Amino acid sequence: MASDSKGLRKLRFSECTCPVCLCILIKPVTFPCGHELCITCFNQHVMKASLLCPLCRVRISVWVRRATRQNQLVNEKRWEEIQNAFPEKVKNRLEEKEEDEIDDDFEGDYYVPQIAEPGEVRKEFEEQKGLVDKDWLSRQREEEEASRRLIAELMDEEAKREEQERKDAELAAALNKQINEVCVYWLSSLNVCLCYLYTVHLATKTNCN
Ligand SMILES: [Zn+2]
Ligand SMILES: [Zn+2]
Repeated sequence: MASDSKGLRKLRFSECTCPVCLCILIKPVTFPCGHELCITCFNQHVMKASLLCPLCRVRISVWVRRATRQNQLVNEKRWEEIQNAFPEKVKNRLEEKEEDEIDDDFEGDYYVPQIAEPGEVRKEFEEQKGLVDKDWLSRQREEEEASRRLIAELMDEEAKREEQERKDAELAAALNKQINEVCVYWLSSLNVCLCYLYTVHLATKTNCN
């Protein structure tokens, strides 16, 4: 087995690769089960998912919490060994992944999964309530408008009915007047006839005597 000037065993590259992304281990996180991932894969596949070792499925939640609290998530000794053994590969990997994968701010920050931002639920509730209130108000206004229209229609019908009744009464009065006039005419005509007949009768009687 190869070893360096200090007598330490020389690391093989295959021993320093992350089993998830298959690249050189950057800031390795070594679990109690002995498996290890680079910090990026750890954040993506363990912290944001299951808190299980992705290789042997051992639960590591307690260990993760403690290591995070003590700022000992990254195996610093191992990280130093890897950097010493493969400085070029580490440099290339860091440069290549600088933009999106290396989370330097992570250390000391325990990842807390959040369903919503603080205040977001309340904001959403207020928005929904505002929509419901607006909907209720507009419905209320529509109902008021509809009853106003109904009242106006009823009043209009009532006015028309009264007008019709007035016209009917006028017509009845006019007819009544006509009938009265006709009766008076016939009665006076009859009276004239009777007077004439009576006069004729008297004349006849006088002639006979
Ligand atoms: Zn990885
Ligand atoms: Zn494991």
